[in-house]
Amino acid sequence: MKPYDYLIVGSGLFGATFAYRARQAGKRCLVIDKRPHLGGNVYCADIEGIHVHQYGAHIFHTSDKTVWDFVTSLVPFNRYTNSPVANYRGELYNLPFNMNTFAELWGVRTPEEAKAKIDEQRAEALAALDGREPANLEEQALCLVGKDIFCKLIKEYTEKQWGRDCKELPAFIIRRLPVRFVFDNNYFNDAYQGIPIDGYNVLTGKLLEGIETRTGCDFFKEYKDSWRSVADRLVYTGPIDEYFDFRFGRLDWRTVSFRTRVEDTPNYQGNAVVNYTSREVPYTRIIEHKHFEMFGQAVYDNPKTVISEEYSAEYKPGMEQFYPVNDARNNVLAERYRALAAEEKDVLFGGRLAEYRYYDMAPVIARALAVAVF
Ligand SMILES: Cc1cc2nc3c(=O)[nH]c(=O)nc-3n(C[C@H](O)[C@H](O)[C@H](O)COP(=O)(O)OP(=O)(O)OC[C@H]3O[C@@H](n4cnc5c(N)ncnc54)[C@H](O)[C@@H]3O)c2cc1C
Repeated sequence: MKPYDYLIVGSGLFGATFAYRARQAGKRCLVIDKRPHLGGNVYCADIEGIHVHQYGAHIFHTSDKTVWDFVTSLVPFNRYTNSPVANYRGELYNLPFNMNTFAELWGVRTPEEAKAKIDEQRAEALAALDGREPANLEEQALCLVGKDIFCKLIKEYTEKQWGRDCKELPAFIIRRLPVRFVFDNNYFNDAYQGIPIDGYNVLTGKLLEGIETRTGCDFFKEYKDSWRSVADRLVYTGPIDEYFDFRFGRLDWRTVSFRTRVEDTPNYQGNAVVNYTSREVPYTRIIEHKHFEMFGQAVYDNPKTVISEEYSAEYKPGMEQFYPVNDARNNVLAERYRALAAEEKDVLFGGRLAEYRYYDMAPVIARALAVAVF
């Protein structure tokens, strides 16, 4: 008999959730990860007693009650509510676009006044198109929200994110730009949101409790040719193109690099997320990690804080693969790899890297729960 029923490559939320369910069903699992820690992208480093989201800020949000009940049965969550602030050349605006934003932008006081302002600016943009469809992201956004919101809060931020002028970006990237005519800074519309109390490592620790794990273990170096001798089945959550040795070429990604530092103050920016929407500032956002988990006096009980500047960048081999690029080339390439994956015997491909799909945390857990049926 082989030592394991499942070899699971990757200890992120997909691999860990699958492993949890497999163990409950009495399956013997080995979970490996090439990183020096478990947890995948939700892993947090402890710096100055603060949980630092090492692979980018992660805010759990969902309306899927099954997923919420599942995660909260493992660990309690806090009441963190994402309400980012935008800094445009020193002017501060609440996000997402809502009555607080409009009051600050135009001094309007009622939803009616705000709507009239937006409608007036949208009409200007539509008139400029003279009946034709928006040809690029800039025209599209102007038609959706008008020039003031576009120029101060969208244009330069989007250009930093994509490394290209908004006129060179396709219109479809922005299909909708929700505007709210209420004083509500809650970024998400979901029924449930929060951060696990004591951090994400506690959540992934619970999922992987009692399961054999190995970190610093690269599937391609240690198991690619021999995994069938240790396990009956493989669950693979790494990059799909790498599994097939880049046979059809490499898939493209966008990445983000982080400059993290400790600041000698208890409260650096007063919010977890501040977007810098002007091009003079090279980074897109500053994350102040303590505000995800410390509230009220607790912010001041720790005299230090940890912040991360985020820089959007083109992915090159060796960097972290973060966001799939959904253009024609990559969509076709990903489909070809998915077709190969469907033919692979005894292997389940799951999660954001193996499916080449952007997934939030809740949908990735939902997907793992759906396929972990024994
Ligand atoms: C910058 C950023 C911010 C995000 N913010 C949010 C948010 O606020 N809210 C939200 O809901 N979602 C957010 N997400 C999405 C979230 O990160 C994903 O839903 C989640 O990480 C997916 O889990 P996964 O298991 O598929 O992948 P991962 O967490 O990436 O796990 C895959 C694991 O496989 C390992 N691996 C890969 N190749 C090998 C190999 N050859 N050998 C061994 N191990 C290997 C990797 O080291 C990694 O640990 C964000 C994503 C990014 C990129």
